[in-house]
Amino acid sequence: MERSYFDWNATAPLRPQAAAALAHAVGFPGNPSSVHAEGRAARRLVERAREEVAALVGAEPANVIFTSGGTEANMLALSPSIETANEKRPRERLLLSAIEHSSVRSGGRFPRSMVEDIPAKSDGRVDLAALSEAVRQASLPLVSLMLANNETGVVQPVAEAAAITHAAGGLLHVDAVQGPGRVPCDIGALGADLMTISAHKLGGPKGVGALVRRSDDIHFPDPLIRGGGQERGLRAGTENVAAIVAFGAAADAAREQGPAEAQRMRTLRDMLEASLKSITPQVVIFGEAAERLPNTTLFAAPGMKAETAVIAFDLEGIAVSSGAACSSGKVQPSHVLAAMGVSPALTRGAVRVSLGWSTTEADIERFLGAWRKLATALSKGHSIAA
Ligand code: PLP
Repeated sequence: MERSYFDWNATAPLRPQAAAALAHAVGFPGNPSSVHAEGRAARRLVERAREEVAALVGAEPANVIFTSGGTEANMLALSPSIETANEKRPRERLLLSAIEHSSVRSGGRFPRSMVEDIPAKSDGRVDLAALSEAVRQASLPLVSLMLANNETGVVQPVAEAAAITHAAGGLLHVDAVQGPGRVPCDIGALGADLMTISAHKLGGPKGVGALVRRSDDIHFPDPLIRGGGQERGLRAGTENVAAIVAFGAAADAAREQGPAEAQRMRTLRDMLEASLKSITPQVVIFGEAAERLPNTTLFAAPGMKAETAVIAFDLEGIAVSSGAACSSGKVQPSHVLAAMGVSPALTRGAVRVSLGWSTTEADIERFLGAWRKLATALSKGHSIAA
């Protein structure tokens, strides 16, 4: 059976450029820290990838710190001991939007007692008035706000949050994992001090990512992994050269092709949503009133149960995800929809459809064909309502 993949927000397929770069680099014998020719060749590959990743987000290459992925970059960023050239006192407050990914919601290296949630509004955006109030009360806050939510796709008011945070003497970390190739991610334009990106969401391999600094004025006296001093002492351990090189190739492709891909994805996604609504007028599309990523639809129909729908779609050759899935496979209620004030009954039915650069009109037709069948079953009160 032909299959259609609609789970790009969970992970994107490897871009051909990244696959080729991976195959090329994996054969290099040298350690980038070695001084001989083999070591220097490996170092050159890593540094070229650093330039490519930096170009994707408008940063200086020296401010790109490679990590094992988005989760590790978030952990590195969220540290009370973070310093700037002008401010060496520890950060006493971490302010997180209520819709952050679990790797940010965990609070990184802050004790739970120092972490405060900033509520979201019903449209899926963080409440900026609440953020203003919280930064005014906090001493030297570190604020973490994602660029776009992985479940709803809602793009957050990051530049406004940056202005509010900076006016209070705070620093802003942006988890931009869902952004590259879909929306502009220039670190300077967004006003972010720190930015997290992950290779596997933009067509690179899994298990590699980066924390990007606005400037080398920002220091981490307490790195997460200490040892051999790699990554300017901020992330010890021999670099995963092949994965980093493939990350660079994917970043390059996302930078060049992202704007055109995003436009195409938006057309297909809008087509999908229009048909979804005409087949099932009661369907609810979450975050629809706000600006969203061009590739994401999170929807529910009254009476639908997401896990059952995901399995039913899978049997029809369609890979979608439950908006509430978590990595252990155990489904938990979505904290994002809860923060938006969505009823638990509707939340239980949330299904996420996320598109990518290789999604075609035929994929959309296959999805809609499967949905027609499921919606008919749903209207009869069985099969996808448990
Ligand atoms: N942040 C967001 C918004 C994500 O969607 C994800 C992955 O799902 C992560 C962070 C974690 O990234 P990684 O899988 O590279 O650890």
